[in-house]
Amino acid sequence: MEQERIEIRSLTLEELTALMEELGEKRFRAKQLYQWLHVHRAASYEEMTNLPKSLLAKLAERTSLTVLRQETVQVSGLDGTRKYLFALPDGNLIESVLMRYQHGNSVCISSQAGCRMGCRFCASAIGGLVRGLTAAEMAEQVYRIGRDTGERISHVVVMGTGEPLDNYDNLLRFLALLTDENGLHISQRNITVSTCGIVPRIRQLADERLSITLAISLHAATQEKRRELMPVADRYGLPELMEACRYYFDRTGRRVTFEYSLVAGVNDSDEDAKELAGLLSGMNCHVNLIPVNPVKERAYRQPDRGRILDFKNKLEKYGINVTIRREMGRDIDGACGQLRKRYLGSVDPGLHEDKTDGGLG
Ligand code: SAH
Repeated sequence: MEQERIEIRSLTLEELTALMEELGEKRFRAKQLYQWLHVHRAASYEEMTNLPKSLLAKLAERTSLTVLRQETVQVSGLDGTRKYLFALPDGNLIESVLMRYQHGNSVCISSQAGCRMGCRFCASAIGGLVRGLTAAEMAEQVYRIGRDTGERISHVVVMGTGEPLDNYDNLLRFLALLTDENGLHISQRNITVSTCGIVPRIRQLADERLSITLAISLHAATQEKRRELMPVADRYGLPELMEACRYYFDRTGRRVTFEYSLVAGVNDSDEDAKELAGLLSGMNCHVNLIPVNPVKERAYRQPDRGRILDFKNKLEKYGINVTIRREMGRDIDGACGQLRKRYLGSVDPGLHEDKTDGGLG
């Protein structure tokens, strides 16, 4: 039987060095190779012109070089946001977004094909989980977009489809590749990882003592309300989650961000704001309010502008640090997962059969 191929773009520099030794090559080749893979973001071995042909032949035989294929890109006429649909080597589809901000270009990547967390308002939950992405597949989203635009990417947010902490080992490997000084060398401080709240993994991540920002998808200030929106809350209750967030801050010194999707009539009342302020009081944190993105299959609606501003003002009165997320690319498939889902829908309607809805919406 054929030996399983090594996915070369997922290897750290140390692992590449070990591979060079195993192949009877000079150690310094590892660094050259790493540069081709992570700085030049090579799409084929043919590009690697300063490496011996014999080495490239061995690599072609023993390894796989992960390259994402761009299926489509939608460009916003409003703010230049670019939403990409990529095919993974096995044909699965994922989406990634380039957002242009004053402070630099930010890429939002997917960490899984599909998701099994089942949040009620989320388009990505609808088809369930297909599989977690490898480190190379996560990095490739940043690399292809960088090569496609020719622009520097300074920020990365792991906020696309999937639950990053449900793909923990690959996520950490990806973070190591992305921040390595021999690669793109993106600053840890410019990376945000967003989670629905897998408590043991938050604690594990805290113990890694990275300088990345942790974002928690909170969306409700009481356990009862949160359970209705996010099945993960049945597994990890709100008090445990808040404890884990405090632990993250204690271990890393990094202020935690709480994401709160405002849904009309569900979590947007003055009472909700008061409860949220109470939950977060005394914590060094930041709240990001996101007017919920309507998803076709769900009945959730955004509060009107006045209500959103009232909610923000209320939180501020209680001394909470809060912003309203600027909506990027309003004119292209908005919410996470919608572009991918539309594509899947046009290919095989059976794929987005709803297995997660508990009767809401
Ligand atoms: N699984 C991770 C990261 C992916 S979701 C997490 O839960 O954080 C990224 C963010 O978008 C999360 O805060 C998620 O709750 C939010 N989100 C998903 N669907 C949304 C929608 N329709 N409207 C607004 N926010 C949504």
